[in-house]
Amino acid sequence: MIEKRLNIASKYSWPPRPAQYLLRVDDLCPTVDAEKWRSLAALIAEFDIDPLLAIVPDNRDPDLIQSKPDPAFWDQMRAMAARGATIGLHGYRHLCQSRNGGILVLAPYTEFAGVPEEMQRQWIAHGLDILRAQGLNPAVWVAPRHGFDAATLRALRSCGIGAISDGFARLPHTRDGLLFIPQQLWAGIRKNSGLWTICLHPNTMSDDDLAALRGFLRQHAARFTSFERVAAEFRGTTLSPVERLRAAATWLRQLAKKLFEF
Ligand SMILES: [Zn+2]
Repeated sequence: MIEKRLNIASKYSWPPRPAQYLLRVDDLCPTVDAEKWRSLAALIAEFDIDPLLAIVPDNRDPDLIQSKPDPAFWDQMRAMAARGATIGLHGYRHLCQSRNGGILVLAPYTEFAGVPEEMQRQWIAHGLDILRAQGLNPAVWVAPRHGFDAATLRALRSCGIGAISDGFARLPHTRDGLLFIPQQLWAGIRKNSGLWTICLHPNTMSDDDLAALRGFLRQHAARFTSFERVAAEFRGTTLSPVERLRAAATWLRQLAKKLFEF
């Protein structure tokens, strides 16, 4: 499965050129908007993409209750994982009640940032237990609303999760003992170089969003890689000072944009 995209060289130059993309789907749980998720899942299958499926283990967020619980949801997650999807732990209950934006401060309230470390560790451990009891093997942390702090990173390490999908660098890198695979885009945008994670929220995708994604996949599907592959090829690399500056500048631009939304 990993080798199926033979047109991507097995070793990357830095940054990868032409650009490569990852697809991440957030807020998955049995009550995800059934119709929109069906449409998005059909595109993922049609273009043979290996996505990161960010699953809320025990959703309690009313915003994520858009359809009746789908009895086939967990079967579908298992089937997609068997075909090459990576499973992400998307928080625990998705209740963003902590008034703390964490390291990235992209939202005023988050689920994890600012919560006592032992509680964060318990939430992560419970979330992992729930997903594992469903026969899934979560490998990547996806923080609700980008909210994580130093305690989250320690808790993740102690629970055996070694990778995070977040941040604004153009390249995966190691930081605080964890592999960071940046997530910089919320729609398909053509890039010349670098590794770009496109984060999608099926609950709020419009028909236009789906059509735009289809157009992007038509042109660029061959340039999509998988988290598994990226993790295997990039582990151990730290960001150069230039890349750190670039990432900080992108983060500041994003922060400025968000400040107008608060
Ligand atoms: Zn979320």
